[in-house]
Amino acid sequence: MTAVPHRYAVPAAPVTSIPISGTDARFPVHRIYCIGRNYEEHAREMNATVALDAPVFFMKPSDAVVTDGADVPFPSATNDLHHEVELVLALHSGGRNLDTAVARAAIYGYAVGLDLTRRDLQAKAKAKGTPWDTAKGFDASAPISAITPVAMIGHPAAGELRLQVNGQIRQHANIATMVMAPADILASLSNFYELRAGDLIFTGTPAGVAALHRGDTFVATFPGLADLRGRIV
Ligand code: MN
Repeated sequence: MTAVPHRYAVPAAPVTSIPISGTDARFPVHRIYCIGRNYEEHAREMNATVALDAPVFFMKPSDAVVTDGADVPFPSATNDLHHEVELVLALHSGGRNLDTAVARAAIYGYAVGLDLTRRDLQAKAKAKGTPWDTAKGFDASAPISAITPVAMIGHPAAGELRLQVNGQIRQHANIATMVMAPADILASLSNFYELRAGDLIFTGTPAGVAALHRGDTFVATFPGLADLRGRIV
């Protein structure tokens, strides 16, 4: 039976996609999940504590992606845009209630990204106990490098994640110091959502988050992964 293509009443949004190192095929983005408070020193600088039994998950829309080298528009409605450099997981399979071995096998590749944050709105939301969406899930809030497939680099368990802004190091930490390792994050997340091919997971930021301003240039790096470069405009 041949499927009849839908005729849409309004223009359908394009699929967001990200370059992949070593191939001209692209990675189509389904959802973007994020975990908060996954490095102890960052939790401390935010006057928060890590909670292994209750990880903080939130989401960004898939079209919040900004690919490597593209300008990032300074967002509306904030006076305090912050960078959070993070290791990002890209999935080629998924499911619910995954154990850590199956979760690890779901990882297609790794990238570096920025979980851009309207810190002033987040502080207000925390004070009032309201949702973080406007602080985290805004347009162009997810700059991300090209994805490096596991086939090329395996599953990195250690290595220094680093962010430079205008040539100065702002954030650096070994990913081995994450509170929850990547496969454990996925296993936990899969208890709340059905994970799918195309999902991206931002794995939390180390200490050193700070403000970005128009004109700032940034470079996020991790050994063996493609760099992420961009500029706030
Ligand atoms: Mn973050």
